Amino acid sequence: MPLDLAAPVSSVKGVGPKTEALLKKAGLATVKDLLYFLPRTYENFTETTALKDIRPGKVVIKGKISDVKVTQTHRRNFSVTEGVIRDATDAIRVVWFNQPYRARQFSPDKEYYFTGMYDLNRGRYQLTSPKAELASAVKKSGQNSTFRPVYPAKSGLKSDQLQKIYESLRPDFAFIPDLLPPSPLLPDFAQPSGARADALFKAHFAENDTDIKTAREYLAYEELFELILAANLNKQENQKLKSFEIPFVPRDIQSLVKKLPFPLTNAQRLATFEILKDLEKPVPMNRLLQGDVGAGKTVVAALAAFSVIRAGKQVALLAPTAILASQHAESLSALLAPFGINVALLTGATKGKSELKKRIKSGEAQLIVGTHALLTDDTEFSGLALTIIDEQHRFGVNQRQKLLAKTVAKNGLAPHLLMMTATPIPRSLQLAIFGDLDVSILNELPKGRQPVTTRLLSELNFTDQLYPVVRDFLAKGQQVYWICKKIDDTASGKPTSEAVSVKRQAEKLRPLFPKANIAFLHGKMKPAEKDAVMSAFAAGKINILVSTTVVEVGVNVPNANLMVIMNANDYGLAQLHQLRGRVGRGKDAALCFLATPASVEPSRRLRELEKSTDGFYLAEADLKLRGPGEIYGALQHGALNLQFASLTDTKLISAASKSAKAFAKTPDRLADFPELAQEIKKYQQLTTLN
Ligand code: ADP
Ligand code: MG
Repeated sequence: MPLDLAAPVSSVKGVGPKTEALLKKAGLATVKDLLYFLPRTYENFTETTALKDIRPGKVVIKGKISDVKVTQTHRRNFSVTEGVIRDATDAIRVVWFNQPYRARQFSPDKEYYFTGMYDLNRGRYQLTSPKAELASAVKKSGQNSTFRPVYPAKSGLKSDQLQKIYESLRPDFAFIPDLLPPSPLLPDFAQPSGARADALFKAHFAENDTDIKTAREYLAYEELFELILAANLNKQENQKLKSFEIPFVPRDIQSLVKKLPFPLTNAQRLATFEILKDLEKPVPMNRLLQGDVGAGKTVVAALAAFSVIRAGKQVALLAPTAILASQHAESLSALLAPFGINVALLTGATKGKSELKKRIKSGEAQLIVGTHALLTDDTEFSGLALTIIDEQHRFGVNQRQKLLAKTVAKNGLAPHLLMMTATPIPRSLQLAIFGDLDVSILNELPKGRQPVTTRLLSELNFTDQLYPVVRDFLAKGQQVYWICKKIDDTASGKPTSEAVSVKRQAEKLRPLFPKANIAFLHGKMKPAEKDAVMSAFAAGKINILVSTTVVEVGVNVPNANLMVIMNANDYGLAQLHQLRGRVGRGKDAALCFLATPASVEPSRRLRELEKSTDGFYLAEADLKLRGPGEIYGALQHGALNLQFASLTDTKLISAASKSAKAFAKTPDRLADFPELAQEIKKYQQLTTLN
């Protein structure tokens, strides 16, 4: 009999109502949930350190304990338990805080395993609050004798408690049914007849590092297979939907291209062509436009919008911040108004919303630019044929879905979808992450762009090396971004943080540059205030804009060519790259200072930024420096929620995609694999865009 994975946790021996409640709180409702809740790490009692060789850090030692005494401190309810641990080679001090029962736990002639941190405390080395296990008990228990799983602490569940539960499930592991459909394309480790049962068993009852690796490899494969299969099926579903057929009229498009103050790059031409071709088809486009910061994605979007509006339909453009939305509205209106096109802006701050909504509903407003206010509000469109999402990684999957759900027209036609992102994803990962999307890439910056020069600078050298440069830029009539972490020093600012707030920084700069108009900007300001500051900056009325990272995405002020990022060491590579992308957007040479406090050594990460301005190179570098870095972090943990697989594992991804794609050719077979079908549905809900 295969194990019933859907059975409630209460069916497991030893799980009473109290434990059941705890498990439920931790999100573990079924036997399957339990099986896939894996140890965070493993304690390895096979590798103990002799006390004479002990080094600071996490240690496992085996020894006897003596001289245990409890001291009550002056503070109420606070106790310190001290003792001495000895083995044949040496002795060390051990301390527990607030665990007075430790004094009664040990017998002086028995051996124990102690696992914990050995570190310096008030000038003395000691083992602090270690876990302790009777050595003979560890050996005798039926479990993985010397390799012990440690489960993530969750909602008051203790690792030991979980271990007991798995122990009582242990005989059932052999009856875990297979999940993956049999196929010669599956790698050996994933072949049916027990691969899954074996992997899960090894994950919970690992006896060595190989077990852990085997388990993880299978589980990651299974996860990727599901994800990629779901993406493939999504794509098939998408092909079944109907959309507006927008004729591609080259001469019309040319009339707009001619009005641009610059020639398009080849990459822009190609991407535009791909999009216009998609728009002609009777199925909805589902395309991602990927291009490094400053590559000129907006123009491509404008051309697509133009084509749709000329065909008598509406376009919605969604931006992640109000600042960016109003900037888009302004520049697109400047470009399209001469063609008689009506551009409207709808953000939380928009006045006269009901009037505007009438214009949207009547079709008078043709290009509607907005923030997620567009999603939440009861906006009704009249013939929305194209939705453009700028900086799509800033939107949750839910928000994207909501927009699409509400924009399907009454006649059942779904709008075309164009998503834009500056987050570079190496090709090898695209399939796993965006399997159901077609991708266009702007791999070329506009001509004449000078790459931003980047310099690391300690705050100690501001007077000599920074302020004179700022004066030069101001003298040339150019503008400056000054990025700070905090808004002000009182509110949420941690007292330990050395970071200077936007408000203090602005105060500091005023006497230094008395002729400059200095203003500040942060996310907590009222939308109207933000807009006013940003428009004044864009119009050149503000010389130095001291800002938090609210200017990070999309904002475009070509006359601003100097950026100073305070506490640069506190940001990730991707974010710094985005921030830096705000300068160097015109024809002038641009400069970015990555400033660090006197006490901070510049990291490898900052050096990489100094070396390169290529987003794809930096993404790879980030990958190498930190494993799945922050670039993928959001995707990994947010939208896709990968539990086992790492997006850096390109070999596994390509293996999984081979078998998943083959399976997707016969989607009806899914009916024979109900558990897989259910998993796929979960992923489809996560990744589907329809
Ligand atoms: P991003 O891809 O980061 O969204 P934008 O669309 O904001 O970039 O474009 C950045 C700047 O480059 C804008 O000022 C835009 O007008 C300009 N630009 C776009 N395409 C070209 C081009 N082909 N030649 C010169 N400048 C361009
Ligand atoms: Mg942009």
